[in-house]
Amino acid sequence: MQEKFILALDQGTTSSRTLLVDSKGVIRGSAQMEFSQRYPKAGWVEHDPAEIWSTQWATMSKVMEDADIDFSHIAGIGITNQRETTIIWDKRDGNPISNAIVWQDKRTASICEELKSKGLEDYVRENTGLVIDSYFSATKISWLLDQVDGARKRADRGELLFGTVDTWLIWKLTGGKKHVTDYTNASRTMLFNISTLEWDPWLLEQMNIPRSLLPEVKPSSGLFGYFRDGDHQIPICGVAGDQQAALFGQACLEKGMVKNTYGTGCFMLMNTGDKKVISRNGLITTLACSTGENIQYALEGSVFVAGSAIQWLRDGLKIIKSAAESEKMANEVSGSDEIFVVPAFAGLGAPYWDMYARGAIFGITRDTRSAHLVKATLESMAYQTRDVLEAMVEDSEIKVKTLKVDGGAVVNDYLMQFQADILNVPVERPEVVETTAMGAAYLAGIHLGWWDYRVMMADRRVEREFIPVMDSDRRQSLYHKWQDAVRRTRGWAEK
Ligand code: ADP
Repeated sequence: MQEKFILALDQGTTSSRTLLVDSKGVIRGSAQMEFSQRYPKAGWVEHDPAEIWSTQWATMSKVMEDADIDFSHIAGIGITNQRETTIIWDKRDGNPISNAIVWQDKRTASICEELKSKGLEDYVRENTGLVIDSYFSATKISWLLDQVDGARKRADRGELLFGTVDTWLIWKLTGGKKHVTDYTNASRTMLFNISTLEWDPWLLEQMNIPRSLLPEVKPSSGLFGYFRDGDHQIPICGVAGDQQAALFGQACLEKGMVKNTYGTGCFMLMNTGDKKVISRNGLITTLACSTGENIQYALEGSVFVAGSAIQWLRDGLKIIKSAAESEKMANEVSGSDEIFVVPAFAGLGAPYWDMYARGAIFGITRDTRSAHLVKATLESMAYQTRDVLEAMVEDSEIKVKTLKVDGGAVVNDYLMQFQADILNVPVERPEVVETTAMGAAYLAGIHLGWWDYRVMMADRRVEREFIPVMDSDRRQSLYHKWQDAVRRTRGWAEK
């Protein structure tokens, strides 16, 4: 019999990727293509939806070509995607009305202020699990409807559709037949009620967003539609936003399990089981992947600038040639320096939610060299992670036993050891670091009957565990100084 595979589509912020996964869960091929980032004004970030699709399609084709197979070998498609990024298109011709507004885009900050002054914060937190912030899709939708010529009228006539990137890809894959999303992506729009699992009619009214714009919402593992290639029809059967997919891919399937992803930003999620924990500490509550109607919730804290601070060292300051060099430089510095870099380039995320904080470097002396800055920038990822983890433990009242890590920066051993030290919690790096795309593959495979939860838990292998070795006085003193440094960056751009 012909061997079958899953195509796992991983549509990220900077690149589109596809993995080819066999029925044993082994990655048999991958392809990746970067696409352009557009910055039309300060604080604005856009992607071209056509390019999102063309690069995704190119990587799907490439991975099959390399493996010398075609769609007859594909049993199912899983999708994971950059979340919150907002696309609106015309349902008749499929043409987007403008570029996608990316999650990092800050143009709707003033709309958020208005919503807050209308007193919507408590309602939003209680029903969507979120804080009011330009990061989520809702205000991006409002902006597009109000600012793109004729959009409001076309939306009122029911001609337009909104989608996060998963919805856009499914629309393209099904030839415009399906306008759907999954619970995890819907829970990032600030329009989805995470208790009733429906679009929230009151919020739609408050934000003047027509219901007809919104996709149908389904559990993350299940049938979303078919991609047709000649006689073959291939189910799209696993969909989740990137961070929830990573939580699933790390097999954090039980209450209290936590993962942290170190990519452009840092994203920490804790599975809180069937309990919706509403944060008192600036975290958000979100839906975790579900394979049926029984829902799991997660607490999430996101740090906006993590790995991108390393890119800043490379491309902005030009004091490293590659991200990998940061580890070597950090190791060259003796451990006693106390330089702190707060990379609040675009405000601060959880647990502070301060759009007006700006970056700063503290503790510079005549002896400070570039290696110190590199080390302190790496450490800022670990400190920000501790800020989030502390909030999580307090909200959930769950003690964290280990931190499971993934993302591009976890190859950095210096960072991982410092992370374990500053948290006083062991850090576990898995063998397969492709947790996001594998999460999407698992969701699809579960629908296909290939795998179940138990197999996933049992199959997970740890490549290395980093054990805390720092003495507790030093840990405490460093962390206090970090907190002080953060305090001094707050509200800067407002002054
Ligand atoms: P994303 O999915 O957000 O694009 P990735 O998970 O691919 O991000 O991770 C890329 C990020 O990791 C980049 O911001 C890069 O600076 C950082 N990174 C990559 N290698 C290292 C390293 N050895 N040390 C520190 N940071 C690194």
